[in-house]
Amino acid sequence: MTPLATALGEIRHSIRDAQSHSGLAALEITLVAASKTQPVALLEEAIRLGVTNFGENKVQEAEAKWPVLKATHPHVRLHLIGPLQSNKAADAVALFDVIETIDREKIADAVAAECTRLGRQVECYIQVNTGEEPQKGGVLPSEVGVLLAYCQSAGLRVTGLMCIPPAEANPAPHFALLRKLADGLGLTQLSMGMSQDYPDAIRLGATAVRIGTRLFGARPA
Ligand SMILES: *Cc1c(COP(=O)(O)O)cnc(C)c1O
Repeated sequence: MTPLATALGEIRHSIRDAQSHSGLAALEITLVAASKTQPVALLEEAIRLGVTNFGENKVQEAEAKWPVLKATHPHVRLHLIGPLQSNKAADAVALFDVIETIDREKIADAVAAECTRLGRQVECYIQVNTGEEPQKGGVLPSEVGVLLAYCQSAGLRVTGLMCIPPAEANPAPHFALLRKLADGLGLTQLSMGMSQDYPDAIRLGATAVRIGTRLFGARPA
């Protein structure tokens, strides 16, 4: 077994294990392989091993790696998990299937306009800055409802919420808050949990976990 095959087996096992402790065992948990800086050969191996969802942080990097891979493997779903600038909205809508980082009206407008122009419907999540960190992307928890209504009136298909808890904090209260916000708004998808904390996230209701280093090993510099 290759290191990737071993890691994937362990992650799938621990996802099932966490799920069996969540009371949500019927839900399907999506493993989003966070593949920033990883080479195409490793992504191809992951696809061969059955990984179907990948997350990239930068539109430009994704454009260098993914068009050929996606053409060869049309079932793969690509998630944008890094910040989006409105001047990259056209490229993002053309390449990504899920945009997890909608966090302001200007981006919602830009993505909605490109969906219309390209005749392409992408799934969107709203990123929530659960730690209210000034430098971090995401809408404040108190403003999610207003942004959701704005997105819906702009015609965006918003299905869930995403968060990245503060690096040094216990993530559990952040996951619980995201779950509560989603429940209150009738959203079903919750993208939360990374290599260090995905079992906790699943126990608290994650439907998608974004895992990089635990799957692929340390990121190449
Ligand atoms: C890189 C990244 C991840 C994965 O982080 P790991 O700790 O390597 O699992 C998840 N989410 C986002 C938004 C990221 O940028």
